[in-house]
Amino acid sequence: MTSNKLHVDSLVVGGGIAGMQASLDLADQGYQVALVERDPSIGGKMIGLSKVFPTLDCCSCITTPKMAAVAHHDNIQLLTYSEVQSVTRNGKGFSAQVLRKPRYVREEDCTGCRSCELVCPLDLPDEANEYGRTAHRVVYVPFATAVPQTALLDIDHCIFCGKCLKACPTDAIDFFQQPQTLQIEAETIILATGYEVTPYDAKKEYGAGNLRNVIDGLMMERLLAPTGPYGRVLRPSDGKLPDSIAYVQCAGSRDLSLGVSYCSRICCMYAIKQAMLLSGALPLADITIYYMDIRAFGKGYEQFYQNAKAMGIEFVKGKVARITEDEDQNPIVRVELIDEFSHVAERRHDLVVLSVGMLPGYNTQPLYQVPVAEDGFIQIPDYNISPAVTEQAGIFATGSATGPMDIVDSIVTAGAAASEAAAYMHTHNGRQAAPVAAQEERSPVYA
Ligand SMILES: Cc1cc2nc3c(=O)[nH]c(=O)nc-3n(C[C@H](O)[C@H](O)[C@H](O)COP(=O)(O)OP(=O)(O)OC[C@H]3O[C@@H](n4cnc5c(N)ncnc54)[C@H](O)[C@@H]3O)c2cc1C
Repeated sequence: MTSNKLHVDSLVVGGGIAGMQASLDLADQGYQVALVERDPSIGGKMIGLSKVFPTLDCCSCITTPKMAAVAHHDNIQLLTYSEVQSVTRNGKGFSAQVLRKPRYVREEDCTGCRSCELVCPLDLPDEANEYGRTAHRVVYVPFATAVPQTALLDIDHCIFCGKCLKACPTDAIDFFQQPQTLQIEAETIILATGYEVTPYDAKKEYGAGNLRNVIDGLMMERLLAPTGPYGRVLRPSDGKLPDSIAYVQCAGSRDLSLGVSYCSRICCMYAIKQAMLLSGALPLADITIYYMDIRAFGKGYEQFYQNAKAMGIEFVKGKVARITEDEDQNPIVRVELIDEFSHVAERRHDLVVLSVGMLPGYNTQPLYQVPVAEDGFIQIPDYNISPAVTEQAGIFATGSATGPMDIVDSIVTAGAAASEAAAYMHTHNGRQAAPVAAQEERSPVYA
């Protein structure tokens, strides 16, 4: 292992929309930032979504310019496929050991031309991006808009045929690459480690992942996305275009049997969004949303809900008790219809989408000594006054790492975390940001 040292003003952990925005907000003020992301590309969950509620803007079109801005910013050191291993307080700041995992492709030489990918003879299911619905080669660029556009080699599945080695025009393939550690000295840390979804196979009442035509919200995002696996919505068991699609709300939130007592805030809105997109993609399909109550909390969200109703999406008040399937693998939903004298009904659909909720993505207690609350998300002691300030001086938090939230709130709290970090450096360490000379010359695309 080789060892390097990096001095920055702020270390941002997590390269989703919140971490990217916090990094850009600090970097635009002239602060030096190191952004550490554990995946091979930045972008977080947002880069995999189809369109955003309530405007139905293309997600990729919003996220990709931010990813490029992060990668091209003079004040941001981007460290993907890297993880913080240890953190200690060091004088007025922190010292962090970062492990740079080997890609077996030299980042500094790879141009992302994909010549290696074209000649590689082996395919593997793409579990990370497409839930195994498509495949990638053993050596591959993670996805079309990945940042950085650097290939990655899955050494465990490589047969060392040497084809990529010969095809690479810049000799970037390195089978002997070793993990490297980097020591980062930073005055502040911003935690933006995001969320995971509640597992769609958690509830045996809903088929526990055994029913092929019961999927979750993130899988549906991929089916709806222009960059998705098939370019259309097909049901998994037989590739049929579904005529009847149902959403089951609170399938991983407000559910004590799963240990998730809280509302995940986003599920109502993304179900409505997907239902609207489905009405466009499959105009003849019947779309039903089984819900307990609709929580449309943000600006323009209530109107979005009303628009969905006006489009003919059926909202059925009732809690789904069980999902089974018939001999053709059509899911059968058993539900108590609350508005219809609580009678119990069984309805058959072609495809059922579970509106799974949000779980914390990462426990910040062991490494950063930042306590988590009862729900597992980062504890923010004065949430109403300082929504980005943690119990550890100099460590701030943003986005869904602090609790379920949508993209708008993730961006807002990213701004809050960046300004809290800047204020902290100013008041505690007497630090001012360096003048931002280079920035005025930057292209407006990256402004
Ligand atoms: C199905 C679905 C649809 C949605 N649709 C919408 C929508 O239309 N509109 C909307 O506003 N919101 C939507 N959301 C919510 C949206 O995805 C989140 O609000 C947003 O992604 C939160 O961003 P984030 O940066 O906080 O977290 P994330 O996107 O989870 O990013 C966190 C990043 O941190 C990285 N990371 C985690 N731990 C570490 C670590 N220890 N070290 C280094 N890196 C780490 C992760 O790899 C990831 O890249 C949807 C959510 C779902 C589930």
